[in-house]
Amino acid sequence: MKYDEYYQELVRLDVGTILRDEPLYKHTTYRVGGPARLFVKVKDLDSLIQTIKYCRKHRIKLFVIGRGSNLLFSDKSFNGMIISLENFHQYKINGHQVVAQCGVPMIKLAYDCAKVGLSGFEFMGGIPGNIGGGIFMNAGAYKSSISEVVESVTILDEHLQLVTLSKEEMDFGYRHSIIQDHKKWIIIEATFQLTTKTVKEVNDLLDKRKERRMSTQPWNQPSAGSVFRNPETGAAWKYIDDAGLRGYEIGGAQVSPKHSNFIVNNGYASAKDIYDLIFYVQKVIDEKFHVQLKPEVRFINWES
Ligand SMILES: Cc1cc2nc3c(=O)[nH]c(=O)nc-3n(C[C@H](O)[C@H](O)[C@H](O)COP(=O)(O)OP(=O)(O)OC[C@H]3O[C@@H](n4cnc5c(N)ncnc54)[C@H](O)[C@@H]3O)c2cc1C
Repeated sequence: MKYDEYYQELVRLDVGTILRDEPLYKHTTYRVGGPARLFVKVKDLDSLIQTIKYCRKHRIKLFVIGRGSNLLFSDKSFNGMIISLENFHQYKINGHQVVAQCGVPMIKLAYDCAKVGLSGFEFMGGIPGNIGGGIFMNAGAYKSSISEVVESVTILDEHLQLVTLSKEEMDFGYRHSIIQDHKKWIIIEATFQLTTKTVKEVNDLLDKRKERRMSTQPWNQPSAGSVFRNPETGAAWKYIDDAGLRGYEIGGAQVSPKHSNFIVNNGYASAKDIYDLIFYVQKVIDEKFHVQLKPEVRFINWES
Protein backbone atom coordinates (compact mmCIF):
# COMPACT_ATOMS: atom_id res chain seq x y z
CA MET A 1 0.00 0.00 0.00
CA LYS A 2 2.67 2.51 0.98
CA TYR A 3 4.42 2.01 -2.38
CA ASP A 4 1.20 3.09 -4.09
CA GLU A 5 1.36 6.33 -2.13
CA TYR A 6 5.04 6.85 -2.96
CA TYR A 7 4.23 6.20 -6.59
CA GLN A 8 1.43 8.79 -6.63
CA GLU A 9 3.62 11.38 -4.90
CA LEU A 10 6.56 10.79 -7.22
CA VAL A 11 4.27 11.16 -10.24
CA ARG A 12 3.12 14.49 -8.80
CA LEU A 13 6.76 15.56 -8.28
CA ASP A 14 7.30 14.85 -12.01
CA VAL A 15 10.83 13.44 -11.59
CA GLY A 16 10.70 11.22 -14.66
CA THR A 17 9.16 7.91 -15.74
CA ILE A 18 7.97 5.97 -12.70
CA LEU A 19 7.10 2.30 -12.86
CA ARG A 20 5.48 0.10 -10.22
CA ASP A 21 6.57 -3.51 -9.72
CA GLU A 22 8.84 -3.35 -12.73
CA PRO A 23 10.37 -6.79 -13.52
CA LEU A 24 14.14 -6.46 -13.23
CA TYR A 25 14.77 -9.25 -15.74
CA LYS A 26 13.91 -6.57 -18.32
CA HIS A 27 16.86 -4.48 -17.11
CA THR A 28 19.62 -7.07 -16.70
CA THR A 29 21.65 -8.94 -19.29
CA TYR A 30 21.16 -12.19 -17.32
CA ARG A 31 17.41 -11.69 -17.96
CA VAL A 32 16.58 -12.65 -14.37
CA GLY A 33 15.45 -10.74 -11.29
CA GLY A 34 12.21 -10.13 -9.41
CA PRO A 35 10.15 -6.92 -9.54
CA ALA A 36 11.29 -3.58 -8.14
CA ARG A 37 8.58 -1.91 -6.07
CA LEU A 38 9.54 1.38 -7.73
CA PHE A 39 11.63 1.94 -10.82
CA VAL A 40 12.39 5.54 -11.77
CA LYS A 41 14.07 6.81 -14.93
CA VAL A 42 14.93 10.27 -13.67
CA LYS A 43 14.70 13.17 -16.11
CA ASP A 44 17.79 15.13 -15.17
CA LEU A 45 20.11 16.08 -12.33
CA ASP A 46 17.51 18.13 -10.45
CA SER A 47 15.04 15.24 -10.62
CA LEU A 48 17.75 12.86 -9.40
CA ILE A 49 18.44 15.08 -6.38
CA GLN A 50 14.73 15.46 -5.68
CA THR A 51 14.24 11.68 -5.92
CA ILE A 52 17.13 10.96 -3.54
CA LYS A 53 15.78 13.50 -1.03
CA TYR A 54 12.36 11.87 -1.28
CA CYS A 55 13.86 8.41 -0.66
CA ARG A 56 15.82 9.67 2.34
CA LYS A 57 12.75 11.36 3.83
CA HIS A 58 10.68 8.17 3.50
CA ARG A 59 13.56 5.78 4.23
CA ILE A 60 13.20 4.09 0.87
CA LYS A 61 16.17 1.91 -0.09
CA LEU A 62 17.60 2.94 -3.45
CA PHE A 63 19.93 1.41 -5.95
CA VAL A 64 21.38 2.95 -9.13
CA ILE A 65 21.47 0.73 -12.17
CA GLY A 66 23.32 1.10 -15.47
CA ARG A 67 22.58 -1.48 -18.16
CA GLY A 68 22.47 -4.29 -15.60
CA SER A 69 25.29 -6.13 -17.34
CA ASN A 70 27.21 -6.95 -14.19
CA LEU A 71 24.34 -7.60 -11.79
CA LEU A 72 22.56 -10.61 -10.38
CA PHE A 73 19.34 -9.53 -8.69
CA SER A 74 17.54 -12.21 -6.69
CA ASP A 75 14.14 -13.52 -7.77
CA LYS A 76 12.38 -11.81 -4.89
CA SER A 77 10.82 -8.39 -4.89
CA PHE A 78 13.22 -5.47 -4.45
CA ASN A 79 11.58 -3.49 -1.66
CA GLY A 80 12.84 -0.09 -2.62
CA MET A 81 13.58 2.02 -5.65
CA ILE A 82 15.78 1.34 -8.64
CA ILE A 83 17.06 4.51 -10.28
CA SER A 84 17.96 4.38 -13.94
CA LEU A 85 20.17 7.14 -15.37
CA GLU A 86 19.58 6.21 -18.97
CA ASN A 87 18.41 9.77 -19.71
CA PHE A 88 21.96 10.96 -18.97
CA HIS A 89 23.04 10.00 -22.45
CA GLN A 90 24.80 13.07 -23.84
CA TYR A 91 28.45 13.29 -24.77
CA LYS A 92 30.72 15.95 -26.29
CA ILE A 93 33.93 15.60 -28.24
CA ASN A 94 36.37 18.49 -28.10
CA GLY A 95 39.66 17.68 -29.80
CA HIS A 96 41.19 14.78 -27.89
CA GLN A 97 38.85 15.28 -24.97
CA VAL A 98 35.53 13.44 -24.57
CA VAL A 99 33.04 14.31 -21.84
CA ALA A 100 30.39 11.61 -21.49
CA GLN A 101 27.42 11.35 -19.13
CA CYS A 102 27.01 8.16 -17.13
CA GLY A 103 24.16 6.78 -19.25
CA VAL A 104 26.11 6.71 -22.53
CA PRO A 105 26.58 3.09 -23.70
CA MET A 106 30.29 2.20 -23.88
CA ILE A 107 29.84 0.42 -27.21
CA LYS A 108 28.18 3.47 -28.78
CA LEU A 109 30.90 5.78 -27.49
CA ALA A 110 33.67 3.50 -28.79
CA TYR A 111 32.11 3.36 -32.29
CA ASP A 112 31.27 7.07 -32.42
CA CYS A 113 34.81 8.03 -31.42
CA ALA A 114 36.20 5.63 -34.03
CA LYS A 115 34.31 7.57 -36.72
CA VAL A 116 36.45 10.63 -35.97
CA GLY A 117 39.69 8.69 -35.50
CA LEU A 118 39.83 8.90 -31.70
CA SER A 119 41.69 5.99 -30.18
CA GLY A 120 41.62 4.65 -26.60
CA PHE A 121 38.10 3.23 -26.35
CA GLU A 122 38.66 0.23 -28.64
CA PHE A 123 38.63 -2.22 -25.70
CA MET A 124 35.08 -1.05 -24.87
CA GLY A 125 33.72 -2.10 -28.25
CA GLY A 126 32.11 -5.27 -26.87
CA ILE A 127 31.33 -4.29 -23.27
CA PRO A 128 27.55 -3.87 -23.00
CA GLY A 129 27.50 -1.47 -20.02
CA ASN A 130 27.19 2.30 -19.72
CA ILE A 131 29.95 4.77 -18.84
CA GLY A 132 28.72 4.94 -15.20
CA GLY A 133 28.91 1.15 -14.76
CA GLY A 134 32.21 1.09 -16.63
CA ILE A 135 33.77 3.65 -14.29
CA PHE A 136 32.28 1.96 -11.21
CA MET A 137 33.79 -1.40 -12.25
CA ASN A 138 36.87 -0.03 -14.01
CA ALA A 139 35.76 -2.16 -16.93
CA GLY A 140 38.47 -3.49 -19.17
CA ALA A 141 39.52 -6.02 -21.74
CA TYR A 142 42.58 -6.96 -23.77
CA LYS A 143 44.95 -5.57 -21.14
CA SER A 144 43.29 -2.11 -21.26
CA SER A 145 40.81 -0.58 -18.88
CA ILE A 146 38.72 2.54 -18.67
CA SER A 147 41.04 4.02 -16.02
CA GLU A 148 43.77 4.45 -18.65
CA VAL A 149 41.73 7.01 -20.58
CA VAL A 150 39.93 8.74 -17.67
CA GLU A 151 41.00 12.27 -16.81
CA SER A 152 38.38 13.02 -14.14
CA VAL A 153 34.98 11.86 -12.90
CA THR A 154 32.15 14.05 -11.62
CA ILE A 155 30.03 12.50 -8.91
CA LEU A 156 27.05 13.48 -6.81
CA ASP A 157 28.28 12.90 -3.28
CA GLU A 158 26.40 11.97 -0.09
CA HIS A 159 25.68 15.69 0.55
CA LEU A 160 24.13 15.91 -2.93
CA GLN A 161 26.97 18.15 -4.11
CA LEU A 162 28.73 17.74 -7.44
CA VAL A 163 32.39 16.92 -6.89
CA THR A 164 35.03 16.30 -9.54
CA LEU A 165 37.57 13.61 -8.70
CA SER A 166 40.90 13.33 -10.50
CA LYS A 167 42.00 10.00 -11.94
CA GLU A 168 44.33 9.55 -8.92
CA GLU A 169 41.48 10.21 -6.49
CA MET A 170 39.42 7.51 -8.23
CA ASP A 171 41.74 4.84 -6.78
CA PHE A 172 41.36 2.59 -9.81
CA GLY A 173 42.55 -1.01 -9.61
CA TYR A 174 41.64 -4.31 -11.22
CA ARG A 175 37.82 -4.04 -11.56
CA HIS A 176 37.90 -1.50 -8.74
CA SER A 177 37.20 2.19 -8.30
CA ILE A 178 36.68 4.31 -5.21
CA ILE A 179 32.94 4.51 -5.99
CA GLN A 180 32.61 0.90 -4.81
CA ASP A 181 33.65 2.05 -1.33
CA HIS A 182 31.10 4.90 -1.17
CA LYS A 183 27.61 3.51 -1.47
CA LYS A 184 25.96 6.94 -1.72
CA TRP A 185 28.11 8.36 -4.52
CA ILE A 186 26.61 8.53 -7.98
CA ILE A 187 28.71 8.97 -11.09
CA ILE A 188 27.29 11.75 -13.25
CA GLU A 189 29.86 12.15 -16.01
CA ALA A 190 33.46 11.47 -16.89
CA THR A 191 36.10 13.26 -18.91
CA PHE A 192 38.48 11.22 -21.05
CA GLN A 193 41.69 11.99 -22.93
CA LEU A 194 42.10 10.03 -26.14
CA THR A 195 44.71 10.00 -28.88
CA THR A 196 44.33 10.21 -32.63
CA LYS A 197 44.83 7.51 -35.23
CA THR A 198 43.35 7.11 -38.68
CA VAL A 199 39.68 6.18 -38.78
CA LYS A 200 40.68 2.93 -40.49
CA GLU A 201 43.19 2.01 -37.77
CA VAL A 202 40.65 2.52 -34.98
CA ASN A 203 37.91 0.67 -36.87
CA ASP A 204 40.23 -2.22 -37.74
CA LEU A 205 41.10 -2.69 -34.06
CA LEU A 206 37.42 -2.53 -33.07
CA ASP A 207 36.56 -5.13 -35.72
CA LYS A 208 39.41 -7.38 -34.61
CA ARG A 209 38.24 -7.21 -30.99
CA LYS A 210 34.66 -7.88 -32.04
CA GLU A 211 35.63 -10.95 -34.08
CA ARG A 212 37.65 -12.30 -31.17
CA ARG A 213 34.73 -11.83 -28.77
CA MET A 214 32.27 -13.42 -31.12
CA SER A 215 34.46 -16.46 -31.61
CA THR A 216 35.31 -16.96 -27.92
CA GLN A 217 32.27 -15.72 -25.96
CA PRO A 218 28.60 -16.83 -25.89
CA TRP A 219 27.44 -13.41 -27.13
CA ASN A 220 24.01 -14.73 -28.19
CA GLN A 221 22.98 -15.96 -24.73
CA PRO A 222 22.07 -13.97 -21.60
CA SER A 223 25.05 -13.57 -19.26
CA ALA A 224 26.92 -10.95 -17.28
CA GLY A 225 30.26 -11.54 -18.96
CA SER A 226 33.05 -13.00 -16.83
CA VAL A 227 31.67 -14.29 -13.55
CA PHE A 228 34.94 -14.44 -11.59
CA ARG A 229 37.89 -12.11 -11.33
CA ASN A 230 41.15 -13.68 -12.41
CA PRO A 231 43.10 -14.69 -9.31
CA GLU A 232 46.79 -13.76 -9.16
CA THR A 233 47.73 -17.38 -9.82
CA GLY A 234 46.09 -17.74 -13.25
CA ALA A 235 43.01 -17.34 -15.38
CA ALA A 236 39.66 -18.13 -13.75
CA TRP A 237 38.42 -19.89 -16.91
CA LYS A 238 41.40 -22.27 -16.79
CA TYR A 239 40.68 -23.38 -13.22
CA ILE A 240 37.03 -23.94 -14.13
CA ASP A 241 38.04 -25.89 -17.21
CA ASP A 242 40.62 -27.96 -15.35
CA ALA A 243 37.97 -28.82 -12.75
CA GLY A 244 35.85 -30.30 -15.56
CA LEU A 245 33.06 -27.78 -15.03
CA ARG A 246 32.73 -26.48 -18.59
CA GLY A 247 29.10 -27.09 -19.56
CA TYR A 248 28.02 -27.93 -15.97
CA GLU A 249 24.34 -27.05 -15.36
CA ILE A 250 22.09 -26.20 -12.45
CA GLY A 251 18.49 -25.71 -13.57
CA GLY A 252 18.57 -23.28 -16.47
CA ALA A 253 22.04 -21.93 -15.63
CA GLN A 254 25.09 -23.37 -17.32
CA VAL A 255 28.84 -22.84 -17.32
CA SER A 256 29.13 -21.80 -20.94
CA PRO A 257 30.50 -24.55 -23.17
CA LYS A 258 32.10 -21.72 -25.21
CA HIS A 259 33.84 -19.82 -22.38
CA SER A 260 34.07 -21.41 -18.95
CA ASN A 261 34.25 -18.11 -17.01
CA PHE A 262 30.82 -17.21 -18.39
CA ILE A 263 27.62 -18.56 -16.86
CA VAL A 264 24.73 -18.37 -19.28
CA ASN A 265 20.98 -18.41 -18.85
CA ASN A 266 19.68 -21.15 -21.12
CA GLY A 267 16.37 -19.32 -21.28
CA TYR A 268 14.65 -20.77 -18.21
CA ALA A 269 17.15 -19.99 -15.42
CA SER A 270 16.01 -18.39 -12.19
CA ALA A 271 18.37 -16.00 -10.44
CA LYS A 272 18.73 -18.74 -7.80
CA ASP A 273 19.97 -21.25 -10.42
CA ILE A 274 22.70 -18.79 -11.47
CA TYR A 275 23.56 -17.95 -7.86
CA ASP A 276 23.79 -21.63 -6.90
CA LEU A 277 25.98 -22.40 -9.91
CA ILE A 278 28.36 -19.51 -9.15
CA PHE A 279 28.87 -20.73 -5.58
CA TYR A 280 29.08 -24.38 -6.64
CA VAL A 281 31.90 -23.49 -9.05
CA GLN A 282 33.61 -21.44 -6.34
CA LYS A 283 33.39 -24.38 -3.88
CA VAL A 284 34.75 -26.94 -6.36
CA ILE A 285 37.71 -24.72 -7.31
CA ASP A 286 38.49 -24.13 -3.64
CA GLU A 287 38.36 -27.87 -2.87
CA LYS A 288 40.40 -28.93 -5.90
CA PHE A 289 42.99 -26.16 -6.14
CA HIS A 290 42.74 -24.22 -2.85
CA VAL A 291 42.05 -21.10 -4.88
CA GLN A 292 39.26 -18.73 -3.81
CA LEU A 293 37.65 -17.32 -6.91
CA LYS A 294 36.10 -13.91 -6.26
CA PRO A 295 32.95 -13.06 -8.19
CA GLU A 296 33.14 -10.03 -10.48
CA VAL A 297 29.34 -10.06 -10.80
CA ARG A 298 27.53 -8.10 -8.07
CA PHE A 299 24.76 -9.72 -6.03
CA ILE A 300 21.81 -7.49 -5.19
CA ASN A 301 18.86 -8.21 -2.89
CA TRP A 302 20.05 -11.65 -1.68
CA GLU A 303 20.23 -10.89 2.02
CA SER A 304 17.12 -12.12 3.84
C1 LIG B 1 28.46 -10.25 -22.86
C2 LIG B 1 29.18 -9.45 -21.80
C3 LIG B 1 30.52 -9.17 -21.95
C4 LIG B 1 31.18 -8.43 -20.96
N1 LIG B 1 32.51 -8.16 -21.14
C5 LIG B 1 33.16 -7.42 -20.23
C6 LIG B 1 34.54 -7.11 -20.41
O1 LIG B 1 35.17 -7.46 -21.39
N2 LIG B 1 35.15 -6.37 -19.44
C7 LIG B 1 34.50 -5.92 -18.35
O2 LIG B 1 35.10 -5.22 -17.49
N3 LIG B 1 33.19 -6.21 -18.13
C8 LIG B 1 32.51 -6.95 -19.05
N4 LIG B 1 31.19 -7.24 -18.85
C9 LIG B 1 30.53 -6.83 -17.59
C10 LIG B 1 29.83 -5.46 -17.62
O3 LIG B 1 29.43 -5.09 -18.92
C11 LIG B 1 30.72 -4.36 -17.02
O4 LIG B 1 31.02 -4.63 -15.66
C12 LIG B 1 30.08 -2.96 -17.11
O5 LIG B 1 31.03 -2.02 -16.70
C13 LIG B 1 28.81 -2.81 -16.24
O6 LIG B 1 28.15 -1.62 -16.66
P1 LIG B 1 26.57 -1.44 -16.46
O7 LIG B 1 26.20 -0.10 -16.97
O8 LIG B 1 25.83 -2.58 -17.03
O9 LIG B 1 26.47 -1.46 -14.89
P2 LIG B 1 25.45 -2.28 -13.96
O10 LIG B 1 25.69 -3.74 -14.16
O11 LIG B 1 24.06 -1.79 -14.15
O12 LIG B 1 25.96 -1.86 -12.52
C14 LIG B 1 27.22 -2.31 -12.04
C15 LIG B 1 27.53 -1.55 -10.75
O13 LIG B 1 27.78 -0.19 -11.08
C16 LIG B 1 26.95 0.68 -10.31
N5 LIG B 1 26.63 1.85 -11.13
C17 LIG B 1 26.20 1.87 -12.41
N6 LIG B 1 26.04 3.13 -12.83
C18 LIG B 1 26.39 3.93 -11.79
C19 LIG B 1 26.44 5.34 -11.58
N7 LIG B 1 26.11 6.20 -12.55
N8 LIG B 1 26.84 5.80 -10.37
C20 LIG B 1 27.18 4.94 -9.37
N9 LIG B 1 27.15 3.61 -9.51
C21 LIG B 1 26.76 3.11 -10.71
C22 LIG B 1 25.71 -0.14 -9.97
O14 LIG B 1 25.08 0.34 -8.81
C23 LIG B 1 26.34 -1.52 -9.77
O15 LIG B 1 26.83 -1.66 -8.45
C24 LIG B 1 30.50 -7.97 -19.82
C25 LIG B 1 29.12 -8.25 -19.68
C26 LIG B 1 28.46 -8.98 -20.67
C27 LIG B 1 26.99 -9.25 -20.50
